[in-house]
Amino acid sequence: MSVGTLHGLAAVEQQIAQACRDARRARDSVTLIAVSKTFEPDAIAPVLAAGQRVFGENRVQEAKAKWPPLITEHAGTKLHLIGPLQSNKVKEAVALFDAIHSVDRPSLAEALGKALPASGRAIELFVQVNTGEEPQKAGVAPQEADAFIAACRDQWGLTISGLMCIPPVDEAPAPHFALTAKIAKRNGLANLSMGMSADFATAIEFGATHVRVGSAIFGHR
Ligand SMILES: *Cc1c(COP(=O)(O)O)cnc(C)c1O
Repeated sequence: MSVGTLHGLAAVEQQIAQACRDARRARDSVTLIAVSKTFEPDAIAPVLAAGQRVFGENRVQEAKAKWPPLITEHAGTKLHLIGPLQSNKVKEAVALFDAIHSVDRPSLAEALGKALPASGRAIELFVQVNTGEEPQKAGVAPQEADAFIAACRDQWGLTISGLMCIPPVDEAPAPHFALTAKIAKRNGLANLSMGMSADFATAIEFGATHVRVGSAIFGHR
Protein backbone atom coordinates (compact mmCIF):
# COMPACT_ATOMS: atom_id res chain seq x y z
CA MET A 1 0.00 0.00 0.00
CA SER A 2 1.51 3.25 -1.14
CA VAL A 3 1.09 6.41 0.91
CA GLY A 4 2.42 8.36 -2.07
CA THR A 5 -0.51 7.28 -4.20
CA LEU A 6 -3.05 8.43 -1.65
CA HIS A 7 -1.28 11.76 -1.29
CA GLY A 8 -1.46 12.07 -5.05
CA LEU A 9 -5.19 11.31 -5.19
CA ALA A 10 -6.00 13.69 -2.34
CA ALA A 11 -3.89 16.47 -3.86
CA VAL A 12 -5.54 16.04 -7.26
CA GLU A 13 -8.97 16.07 -5.62
CA GLN A 14 -8.11 19.32 -3.85
CA GLN A 15 -6.84 20.91 -7.04
CA ILE A 16 -9.96 19.89 -8.95
CA ALA A 17 -12.16 21.36 -6.22
CA GLN A 18 -10.16 24.60 -6.31
CA ALA A 19 -10.29 24.80 -10.12
CA CYS A 20 -14.07 24.29 -9.97
CA ARG A 21 -14.42 27.09 -7.41
CA ASP A 22 -12.24 29.40 -9.52
CA ALA A 23 -14.36 28.66 -12.60
CA ARG A 24 -17.61 28.94 -10.59
CA ARG A 25 -18.48 25.40 -11.53
CA ALA A 26 -20.00 22.67 -9.39
CA ARG A 27 -17.48 20.03 -8.33
CA ASP A 28 -19.75 17.31 -9.65
CA SER A 29 -19.57 18.78 -13.15
CA VAL A 30 -16.07 17.28 -13.47
CA THR A 31 -15.34 13.54 -13.48
CA LEU A 32 -11.85 12.50 -12.41
CA ILE A 33 -10.57 9.59 -14.51
CA ALA A 34 -7.62 8.05 -12.66
CA VAL A 35 -5.33 6.82 -15.44
CA SER A 36 -3.90 3.54 -14.21
CA LYS A 37 -2.14 2.38 -17.40
CA THR A 38 1.10 0.46 -16.73
CA PHE A 39 0.30 0.18 -13.00
CA GLU A 40 -0.28 -3.20 -11.40
CA PRO A 41 -3.35 -4.07 -9.33
CA ASP A 42 -1.25 -3.58 -6.17
CA ALA A 43 -0.82 0.08 -7.04
CA ILE A 44 -4.47 0.50 -8.04
CA ALA A 45 -5.91 -1.15 -4.90
CA PRO A 46 -5.26 1.79 -2.52
CA VAL A 47 -6.91 4.21 -4.95
CA LEU A 48 -9.98 1.96 -5.13
CA ALA A 49 -9.93 1.66 -1.34
CA ALA A 50 -9.95 5.46 -1.11
CA GLY A 51 -13.22 5.46 -3.04
CA GLN A 52 -12.10 6.38 -6.56
CA ARG A 53 -14.31 4.49 -9.04
CA VAL A 54 -13.50 5.85 -12.51
CA PHE A 55 -10.29 4.66 -14.16
CA GLY A 56 -8.62 5.09 -17.52
CA GLU A 57 -6.58 2.59 -19.51
CA ASN A 58 -5.05 3.00 -22.95
CA ARG A 59 -4.77 -0.64 -24.06
CA VAL A 60 -7.57 -3.16 -24.34
CA GLN A 61 -5.36 -6.20 -23.63
CA GLU A 62 -3.76 -4.69 -20.54
CA ALA A 63 -7.15 -3.64 -19.15
CA LYS A 64 -8.60 -7.08 -19.82
CA ALA A 65 -5.72 -8.72 -17.98
CA LYS A 66 -5.92 -6.68 -14.81
CA TRP A 67 -9.40 -5.17 -14.34
CA PRO A 68 -12.12 -7.87 -14.23
CA PRO A 69 -11.34 -9.04 -10.66
CA LEU A 70 -10.93 -5.45 -9.44
CA ILE A 71 -14.31 -4.53 -10.94
CA THR A 72 -15.97 -7.53 -9.30
CA GLU A 73 -14.53 -6.56 -5.93
CA HIS A 74 -15.43 -2.88 -6.16
CA ALA A 75 -19.02 -2.23 -7.14
CA GLY A 76 -19.64 0.74 -9.37
CA THR A 77 -16.19 0.80 -10.94
CA LYS A 78 -16.17 2.34 -14.42
CA LEU A 79 -13.43 1.89 -17.00
CA HIS A 80 -12.65 4.42 -19.71
CA LEU A 81 -10.59 3.58 -22.79
CA ILE A 82 -8.43 6.63 -23.50
CA GLY A 83 -6.01 5.14 -26.04
CA PRO A 84 -6.37 4.24 -29.72
CA LEU A 85 -8.75 1.39 -30.56
CA GLN A 86 -8.17 -1.03 -33.43
CA SER A 87 -11.33 -2.11 -35.20
CA ASN A 88 -10.54 -5.79 -34.54
CA LYS A 89 -10.56 -5.10 -30.75
CA VAL A 90 -13.91 -3.34 -30.73
CA LYS A 91 -15.89 -6.33 -29.48
CA GLU A 92 -13.56 -6.85 -26.53
CA ALA A 93 -13.48 -3.14 -25.77
CA VAL A 94 -17.25 -2.85 -25.79
CA ALA A 95 -17.55 -5.79 -23.39
CA LEU A 96 -15.20 -4.22 -20.82
CA PHE A 97 -15.25 -0.43 -21.05
CA ASP A 98 -17.96 2.04 -20.02
CA ALA A 99 -16.60 4.85 -22.17
CA ILE A 100 -14.39 5.16 -25.24
CA HIS A 101 -12.56 8.46 -25.75
CA SER A 102 -10.83 7.66 -29.04
CA VAL A 103 -13.50 7.49 -31.75
CA ASP A 104 -11.48 8.94 -34.60
CA ARG A 105 -12.23 7.36 -37.97
CA PRO A 106 -15.05 5.96 -40.12
CA SER A 107 -13.93 2.31 -39.92
CA LEU A 108 -13.97 2.44 -36.12
CA ALA A 109 -17.31 4.26 -36.00
CA GLU A 110 -18.77 1.63 -38.32
CA ALA A 111 -17.43 -1.22 -36.17
CA LEU A 112 -18.85 0.43 -33.03
CA GLY A 113 -22.19 0.91 -34.78
CA LYS A 114 -22.38 -2.85 -35.23
CA ALA A 115 -20.86 -3.98 -31.93
CA LEU A 116 -22.75 -1.68 -29.56
CA PRO A 117 -26.33 -2.82 -30.30
CA ALA A 118 -25.13 -6.44 -30.24
CA SER A 119 -23.50 -5.95 -26.83
CA GLY A 120 -26.58 -4.42 -25.23
CA ARG A 121 -24.27 -2.14 -23.23
CA ALA A 122 -24.58 1.64 -22.91
CA ILE A 123 -21.18 3.12 -23.60
CA GLU A 124 -20.29 6.76 -23.59
CA LEU A 125 -18.46 7.80 -26.78
CA PHE A 126 -16.07 10.70 -27.32
CA VAL A 127 -14.72 11.79 -30.68
CA GLN A 128 -11.01 12.52 -30.46
CA VAL A 129 -9.97 15.75 -32.16
CA ASN A 130 -6.37 16.24 -33.24
CA THR A 131 -6.40 19.94 -32.38
CA GLY A 132 -2.67 20.34 -33.04
CA GLU A 133 -3.01 18.58 -36.41
CA GLU A 134 0.00 16.45 -35.51
CA PRO A 135 0.61 13.77 -38.14
CA GLN A 136 1.66 11.13 -35.59
CA LYS A 137 -1.37 11.69 -33.37
CA ALA A 138 -4.81 10.09 -33.57
CA GLY A 139 -7.97 12.13 -33.90
CA VAL A 140 -9.97 13.84 -36.60
CA ALA A 141 -8.72 17.18 -37.90
CA PRO A 142 -10.64 20.15 -36.45
CA GLN A 143 -12.04 21.09 -39.85
CA GLU A 144 -13.34 17.53 -40.34
CA ALA A 145 -14.90 17.19 -36.91
CA ASP A 146 -18.40 18.49 -37.71
CA ALA A 147 -18.85 16.13 -40.66
CA PHE A 148 -17.45 13.17 -38.74
CA ILE A 149 -19.71 13.78 -35.73
CA ALA A 150 -22.73 14.01 -38.06
CA ALA A 151 -21.72 10.78 -39.83
CA CYS A 152 -21.32 8.97 -36.50
CA ARG A 153 -24.92 9.83 -35.74
CA ASP A 154 -26.56 9.56 -39.17
CA GLN A 155 -24.54 6.83 -40.84
CA TRP A 156 -23.53 4.58 -37.97
CA GLY A 157 -26.25 5.28 -35.40
CA LEU A 158 -23.85 6.32 -32.64
CA THR A 159 -24.68 8.72 -29.85
CA ILE A 160 -21.62 10.88 -29.35
CA SER A 161 -21.49 12.38 -25.88
CA GLY A 162 -18.48 14.66 -26.27
CA LEU A 163 -15.02 15.41 -27.59
CA MET A 164 -11.55 14.47 -26.42
CA CYS A 165 -8.24 16.19 -27.14
CA ILE A 166 -4.55 15.77 -26.28
CA PRO A 167 -2.73 19.07 -26.88
CA PRO A 168 0.78 18.95 -28.38
CA VAL A 169 3.35 18.52 -25.58
CA ASP A 170 5.34 21.60 -26.59
CA GLU A 171 2.45 24.06 -26.80
CA ALA A 172 0.31 25.96 -24.32
CA PRO A 173 -2.79 23.78 -23.86
CA ALA A 174 -5.37 26.58 -23.43
CA PRO A 175 -5.97 27.32 -27.16
CA HIS A 176 -6.43 23.57 -27.77
CA PHE A 177 -8.96 23.31 -24.95
CA ALA A 178 -10.77 26.40 -26.24
CA LEU A 179 -10.93 25.00 -29.78
CA THR A 180 -12.25 21.65 -28.53
CA ALA A 181 -14.91 23.42 -26.45
CA LYS A 182 -15.93 25.52 -29.47
CA ILE A 183 -16.33 22.48 -31.74
CA ALA A 184 -18.34 20.68 -29.04
CA LYS A 185 -20.62 23.66 -28.53
CA ARG A 186 -21.51 24.10 -32.20
CA ASN A 187 -22.26 20.37 -32.42
CA GLY A 188 -24.43 20.35 -29.30
CA LEU A 189 -22.08 18.04 -27.38
CA ALA A 190 -22.10 18.39 -23.60
CA ASN A 191 -18.90 16.60 -22.58
CA LEU A 192 -15.24 17.53 -22.88
CA SER A 193 -12.49 15.02 -22.09
CA MET A 194 -9.43 17.19 -21.68
CA GLY A 195 -6.69 17.87 -19.16
CA MET A 196 -3.95 15.57 -17.86
CA SER A 197 -1.63 15.78 -14.83
CA ALA A 198 0.12 18.94 -16.04
CA ASP A 199 -2.89 20.93 -17.16
CA PHE A 200 -6.17 19.66 -15.70
CA ALA A 201 -6.85 22.90 -13.79
CA THR A 202 -6.59 24.87 -17.05
CA ALA A 203 -8.83 22.33 -18.77
CA ILE A 204 -11.47 22.80 -16.06
CA GLU A 205 -11.31 26.55 -16.65
CA PHE A 206 -12.11 25.83 -20.31
CA GLY A 207 -15.02 23.55 -19.53
CA ALA A 208 -13.56 20.03 -19.16
CA THR A 209 -16.14 17.57 -17.84
CA HIS A 210 -13.66 14.66 -17.74
CA VAL A 211 -10.03 15.06 -16.71
CA ARG A 212 -7.62 12.16 -17.33
CA VAL A 213 -4.99 12.19 -14.61
CA GLY A 214 -2.31 9.52 -14.31
CA SER A 215 1.12 10.42 -12.95
CA ALA A 216 -0.15 13.04 -10.47
CA ILE A 217 -2.04 10.19 -8.76
CA PHE A 218 0.07 7.08 -9.35
CA GLY A 219 3.54 8.56 -9.76
CA HIS A 220 5.88 8.33 -12.70
CA ARG A 221 5.50 5.57 -15.26
C1 LIG B 1 -1.42 8.53 -20.18
C2 LIG B 1 -2.56 9.41 -20.59
C3 LIG B 1 -3.11 10.37 -19.71
C4 LIG B 1 -2.56 10.63 -18.33
O1 LIG B 1 -1.37 11.34 -18.44
P1 LIG B 1 -0.62 11.93 -17.14
O2 LIG B 1 0.26 12.99 -17.69
O3 LIG B 1 0.10 10.81 -16.51
O4 LIG B 1 -1.68 12.49 -16.26
C5 LIG B 1 -4.20 11.11 -20.16
N1 LIG B 1 -4.71 10.93 -21.39
C6 LIG B 1 -4.23 10.02 -22.26
C7 LIG B 1 -4.84 9.88 -23.59
C8 LIG B 1 -3.13 9.24 -21.89
O5 LIG B 1 -2.64 8.34 -22.76
